[in-house]
Amino acid sequence: MMQLKDSALLRELAYIDGVWAGADDGARFEVTNPADGSVLARVPDMGAAETRRAIDAAAAALPAWRARTAKERAAVLRKWFELILENQDDLAVLMTAEQGKPLAEARGEVAYGAAFIEWFAEEGKRIYGDVIPSHGADKRIVVLKEPIGVVAAITPWNFPIAMITRKAGPALAAGCTMVIKPAEDTPLCALALAALAERAGLPKGVLNIVTTRRAAEVGGELSANPTVRKLSFTGSTEVGKLLMRQCAGTVKKVSLELGGNAPFIVFDDADLDAAVAGAMASKYRNAGQTCVCANRLLVQDGIYDAFAAKLAEAVGRLRVGPGLSGDVEQGPLINEEAVAKVETLVADAVGKGARVACGGRRHALGGTFYEPTILTGVTAQMRVAREEIFGPVAPLFRFHTEAEAIALANATEFGLAAYFYAKDIARVWRVAEGLEYGIVGINEGIISTEVAPFGGVKESGIGREGSKYGIEDYVEMKYLCLGGI
Ligand code: ADP
Repeated sequence: MMQLKDSALLRELAYIDGVWAGADDGARFEVTNPADGSVLARVPDMGAAETRRAIDAAAAALPAWRARTAKERAAVLRKWFELILENQDDLAVLMTAEQGKPLAEARGEVAYGAAFIEWFAEEGKRIYGDVIPSHGADKRIVVLKEPIGVVAAITPWNFPIAMITRKAGPALAAGCTMVIKPAEDTPLCALALAALAERAGLPKGVLNIVTTRRAAEVGGELSANPTVRKLSFTGSTEVGKLLMRQCAGTVKKVSLELGGNAPFIVFDDADLDAAVAGAMASKYRNAGQTCVCANRLLVQDGIYDAFAAKLAEAVGRLRVGPGLSGDVEQGPLINEEAVAKVETLVADAVGKGARVACGGRRHALGGTFYEPTILTGVTAQMRVAREEIFGPVAPLFRFHTEAEAIALANATEFGLAAYFYAKDIARVWRVAEGLEYGIVGINEGIISTEVAPFGGVKESGIGREGSKYGIEDYVEMKYLCLGGI
């Protein structure tokens, strides 16, 4: 069971206008532990009316928050960052309990998530405008950058803290106020973050958390309400497209971090051990439930068998179990639906001739545990070639030439992360430039950091999070033309 040092971090109420609140009709839903199905908490199941109130609270808090200096806002955010780190252990326990990832990974995510608050607290001080040489002797041109206003964020369950902080960090630093709807599977981390923001001195109404399992209703309000000027979403491509359509009615700015179908290419000249280590990190982290997880391992003919054998050895050593216990490396999947999808994809591949090199079944632990799996002999006809697996399954495709690898890698509507392993410097450049992706890991399997721009091309999304670019999505330009000088 979950043990927190500070039990006040476990909240069972939503947070609107600085008040911990229930749903108007008192409705609640259960938050469960995917490792054993036990109930961790019951949180408010809110609807459109509560969402409107949260939006109104954010609008009311906006003038005072945006009027503060960037340095004043940064001081509050800095405090929030420090409190998150001081409570790293508790936040990690909450996260593992509601999300399932191994405790060590949860601790890592808390630090990673906090880093976005720190980064943007600093970056907020550097939102520079322009003075542009004018087109007339009697005129002067100035460009101001202003906070866009009330921002809505809808976040997924796979990174319950980091997907919130990389939106809240830049939004609040820029002077925006926010309404966040966390995923129904992982609201507890969001509420704990709000509790810490309150302690850090964030004024009421600046950050609001609406918990719900009626995502379509709350999402409908967030995307239709004219007071909301921007929607930032991380989740599936299907829901992202729906929200983008809904936002068209009020012409909101949108930032979308959607699905991926990451190729992980291993060329004959790769450092084999490094490629195996990178594949392990990229594929099996969070039980394969990240949008940048290697989804297709494309391996060149000459190194295919050696790579498959070494990867199988490493995968065979993975320790699977409940994330809160001991030195587990792979936890359960988020829910039954996720396991069912993985089963279907594996069955489809095997039915079309793929071979199970290891795993390939539900884990003996039962529940939503699935064995770390490798499939060999995978072809473009199988569903795993096109669909995001979101589970601990590594499908190995074989290719012969560099051109073939690039064509295979790009043969998808997605374009988030890609990885490749090679030593030849000319090849490194050619392949890096040939990949139609927003992020390319070269001889590297872990690419996420607050200092670099994270985001996709094609149907993987719009906008970038993190880095100096991440704050741009939360400001509008205003051009002043001063005449009669
Ligand atoms: P995943 O497959 O990662 O669960 P989703 O896109 O379903 O991806 O979920 C990401 C977020 O989108 C979650 O917070 C979820 O509640 C929310 N969501 C799901 N459906 C809708 C919808 N119709 N409108 C708004 N938000 C939604």
